[in-house]
Amino acid sequence: MASNKPKLEGKVAIITGGASGIGETTTRLFAAHGASVIIADINDSLGHLVAASISPHGRCSFIHCDVRNELHLAAAVDHAITTYGLLDIMFSNAGIAGPITGVLDLDPADLDHTLAVHVRGTALAIKHAGRAMVAAGTRGSIICHASVSGIQGGFAPVAYMTSKHAILGLLKEAAAELGGKGVRVNCVSPYLVATPLVCGVPGADVAKVEKLLCTGAILKGAVLRADDVATAVLFLASDDSAFISGHNLVIDGGATVVNTTLA
Ligand code: NAD
Repeated sequence: MASNKPKLEGKVAIITGGASGIGETTTRLFAAHGASVIIADINDSLGHLVAASISPHGRCSFIHCDVRNELHLAAAVDHAITTYGLLDIMFSNAGIAGPITGVLDLDPADLDHTLAVHVRGTALAIKHAGRAMVAAGTRGSIICHASVSGIQGGFAPVAYMTSKHAILGLLKEAAAELGGKGVRVNCVSPYLVATPLVCGVPGADVAKVEKLLCTGAILKGAVLRADDVATAVLFLASDDSAFISGHNLVIDGGATVVNTTLA
């Protein structure tokens, strides 16, 4: 039976892209499990709103952070240490959908932008969180956000797919390098979730989108929600996964184990 015991009591976490979607849901779950959470996002209004809605019950703050900017990520880590004393968890989650173009129509500027948010942003998050954790001797946990688009082809725009594949490379290298220093690095790779990133416009018919989204999964009738991803991130952030590093936790209802063109 699942325990109700808070899993992150006394821990300090940064969640990039924590103002919306999966990041917001994870922020709320971490706070409910006793963590102090810093939302690091470019969306100031939403970030402040989410932090304020959590703060009466738990510790949550917002810092403006564009993950493409190294100074912003360094400042977010400094903020964690000056405000809360340490940094235990980094969830590098910020993301964009990217342009829906294939390789023949690729605009190099779109590719650069998508790679900057996903790959540069994740690499810099690992760098600055990793440095702080190693310097403090924290047995920290860093979680990256890839996707089933980082595993398979033919699933998403080419810039998005390329960037998510690259995150899995970063995961392996960072886990190997930081493991010897006591810091774990893992990744989550979800199937489609009806967030603003996927639904696009505010007010989209989420039930319709969800129905469409789960058609590729082999678990029929199941719908992947932001809560399911947040629960997986909580597991990787907490001591429940103390011996797990370098792992890519795929949350896809089995979609990537079957050839959907034959199913
Ligand atoms: P979302 O649009 O709801 O949230 C993304 C957040 O990232 C927003 O708060 C946004 O402001 C922030 N952000 C964007 N660019 C940023 C930047 N340069 N610096 C800092 N913050 C920035 O989308 P979501 O679906 O919750 O996406 C979160 C992560 O989940 C992304 O990395 C995405 O690729 C990944 N993912 C999503 C799905 C899905 O189906 N929704 C599936 C697999 C992986």
